[in-house]
Amino acid sequence: MTPCIALIVAAGEGERFGGAIPKQYQDLAGSPILRRSQDSVRLGLEAIEKQKPQLVMIHDAARPLIDAETIQRVREALDTHDAAIAAKPLVDTLKRGENDIIKETIDRTNLWQAHTPQGFRFSPILEAHRSVQGRSFTDDAAVAEHAGMRVTLIPSNPDNLKLTNPDDLDRARRLLGMGALPDVRTGFGFDVHRFAPGNSITLCGHTFAHDQSLEGHSDADAGLHALTDAILGAIGEGDIGVHFPPSDPKWKGVDSARFLQHAVDLLRQKGGAVSHIDITFMCERPKIGPQRAAMTKRLSELLKLSPDRIGIKATTTEGLGFTGRGEGLAAQAVVTVRLPFLPDTQ
Ligand code: MG
Repeated sequence: MTPCIALIVAAGEGERFGGAIPKQYQDLAGSPILRRSQDSVRLGLEAIEKQKPQLVMIHDAARPLIDAETIQRVREALDTHDAAIAAKPLVDTLKRGENDIIKETIDRTNLWQAHTPQGFRFSPILEAHRSVQGRSFTDDAAVAEHAGMRVTLIPSNPDNLKLTNPDDLDRARRLLGMGALPDVRTGFGFDVHRFAPGNSITLCGHTFAHDQSLEGHSDADAGLHALTDAILGAIGEGDIGVHFPPSDPKWKGVDSARFLQHAVDLLRQKGGAVSHIDITFMCERPKIGPQRAAMTKRLSELLKLSPDRIGIKATTTEGLGFTGRGEGLAAQAVVTVRLPFLPDTQ
C-alpha cells in the first residue's frame, strides 16, 4: 500500500468560542478539538518530509466528526488523482446581500463546500506550499489549485461540520448523543454552625438581622457551605476543606460566595452546569420563610440559575438535638448537575 501520512495541525486562538479555554482545547466527547492554520500546514509537511511519504491527508481538527468512510473515499481517490478533497454539494439557495437586503440570487450549480480531509501527492503539495509561503489561502486545495494541480471533489459526510462557534459545539454534542444522554449527577452537602453573640446572620449569601450570629472561620454561611460541598461532591472534587482549609488565615471572615464560585468554576471547566439545587435548613430560629425570597434571589445571581430551579426549605427538629436546643443551625443541600457525555468513561 502506498505510504500515506495524516497531518492534523493544531493552531489558532479559538477566540470565537469565548471563555478562557481556547476552542481547540475544549472537550468534545473526551477529545480536545484542534484547529489548523496554513503556516502550520506547511511546517507540518516540512516535518514529515524526512519520512518520505508519497501521500498526505491533511485534516482540519476543528472537524472532529469526520467518519472513516469519507477518509477512505478521499484516500482511494489518490490512487488515480494528484489531489482529492472531501466536499459537500451546496443545497441551499445562495443570496448575496447588502445591509440585509438581497441584491442577487447566485446560481448554486456546481458549487461545493470544501471540507477536510484534503489528500494530495506529497511532493507536489509541499512544493506548492513552499511556493506561496507568506501568502494567505483559505485551504490546502486553494494552494494546490494555485500551483496548477487538478483537485477532485469527493462527497463528504454532511455531519463533518466545522466547529467555529459555541452553537457548533452544541450541535456536535447532539450528534454524538451527548445532548440526548447527558451525564446527570447528584451531589449532597451538609454543614453546621454554632450560634454566638451577634446581631446578624448570613445564609445563602443573604445577610439579615437576628439577635444572634453564627460562629465560623469564614462568614459561617452554612447554606453556601452545604451547597459548595454538594457541587464538589457531584464532580468528585473532595470537599470545601480541601480547597479552602480552615487552618489558612486568609479565609478568615471571607464571603462564602467565593467558595461557591470556585466549585462552579470547577464544574464549568468540565463542561458542566447546575440543573437545580435544594437546600433545607434545620433550626428553631431564625425563621427562614421571611428570608426565602432574598436568599433565592442571591443564589439565582450567584449561580446564574432560574429561581424555579432553586429550592429553599426549613424545618425545626421539634426541640430535639442541638438545633432543637438552639445551639446551632444545620443545612443540607442537594444539587443536580449536567456534564457532557463521555463515552470512554461510561
Ligand atoms: Mg461551614
